[in-house]
Amino acid sequence: MNVLVLGSGGREHALAWKLKQSPLVKKLVCAPGNPGMAGLGECVAADLNDIAGLATLAERRKADLTVVGPEAPLVAGVADEFTRRGLPVVGPTKAAAELEGSKVFAKEFMKRHGIPTAGFTACWDHGDAYSALCAVEWPVVIKADGLAAGKGVRIAQEPDEATAIIEAFMEKGELGAAGEKVVIEECLEGEELSFIVLTDGKTVLPLAPTQDHKRLRDNDQGPNTGGMGAYSDDAIADAPLRARLMKEIVEPTLRGLEAEGRPYSGFLYFGLMLTAEGPRLLEFNCRMGDPECQPLVARLEDDLAETLANLAAGKLSGSSLQWSANASACVVLASAGYPGKPETGKAITGIEAAEKLEGVTVFHAGTKLADGKLVTAGGRVLGVTARGTDLRDAVDHAYAAVEKIRFEGMQFRRDIAARGLKRLEARR
Ligand code: AMP
Repeated sequence: MNVLVLGSGGREHALAWKLKQSPLVKKLVCAPGNPGMAGLGECVAADLNDIAGLATLAERRKADLTVVGPEAPLVAGVADEFTRRGLPVVGPTKAAAELEGSKVFAKEFMKRHGIPTAGFTACWDHGDAYSALCAVEWPVVIKADGLAAGKGVRIAQEPDEATAIIEAFMEKGELGAAGEKVVIEECLEGEELSFIVLTDGKTVLPLAPTQDHKRLRDNDQGPNTGGMGAYSDDAIADAPLRARLMKEIVEPTLRGLEAEGRPYSGFLYFGLMLTAEGPRLLEFNCRMGDPECQPLVARLEDDLAETLANLAAGKLSGSSLQWSANASACVVLASAGYPGKPETGKAITGIEAAEKLEGVTVFHAGTKLADGKLVTAGGRVLGVTARGTDLRDAVDHAYAAVEKIRFEGMQFRRDIAARGLKRLEARR
């Protein structure tokens, strides 16, 4: 089978790494890929905004399967174009991807289908938004409607702060069209959980639970980022909780989409908060999480290429997803300046030494080759990922691998999986 992976981040490297392990995969092409992915297959230049160009690339490369990593091409309709041309693809249609593409749509959808979420007001212009502030309890969460690469969700402690955010999003247009509408939402408290499923619209296969770390610094301090690390073990959500999530959140979502004429196919990510009143859905993503994907593929025992080919053919019912009973963790190494403007072009050393450690894989995100040398090229640079006999072992291996890697200004969190490790201690 010829497989095409679209994207160039840590998530896509992790997907490509797992796909390449399948005996079914004859040729792997990554578009545009990154230096890590270049070690697995051929990387070809591509513009992820050029939907027709991506479909033509898949035709030329005779792709039997295309896996779309990031959300932007899905929200723009890449899966529709592939399906129109008879090209097998993993990812939802533009209509179904609106779950991620519009927070106003997502929240109103949750309300229509009785899916538990934070109380909210959808605001179509700044007048709506300023009036909504008169009737809220503080703090509030303000969310830009459209895709904003992790910059669209802000928490305001008091009215002046909220007013400044609304002004920036809705009047000054800081996020462009993404901030033209906003959702103002009740601020919830609790532990977060990423629950991702794979579905062809009929069969639903839940992935192992994961938890990511959005804030830049230890103890959840500092600004929000795209994610500074993630881990997976089954104790993040035990079997009764997973069954509850399927019944109260996943199934009503898929039924609702079907009823509204937007059947879903692909990875569907549920970003949840486990509050004292029960699980609440914060957001949908129409693709795998990044960095959740990295620890997930490290635990996946099945042939991902076979499962995804079945999904693209609408025959997921014959597939399964088996996860190792153990645990995995991914520590993201980021550039100085991230999540603001990252300093780039710094030489990276030590990846080979890190990967010599047992169970360790280093996934590339913001890297490039300059004069034959590997240098930093983005905010999140590497995802150092390790499997272990248990979570303690996985985390220790990941940090031992981090010790081997160097680049100027490297920043990372030292408390990845802290909540999971506490749970593990409590069980001992
Ligand atoms: P979202 O893109 O909607 O998941 O939001 C990004 C992050 O903002 C989440 O992972 C949470 O950490 C935080 N967040 C979002 N919505 C809420 C909420 N209603 N209450 C508290 N925190 C939230």
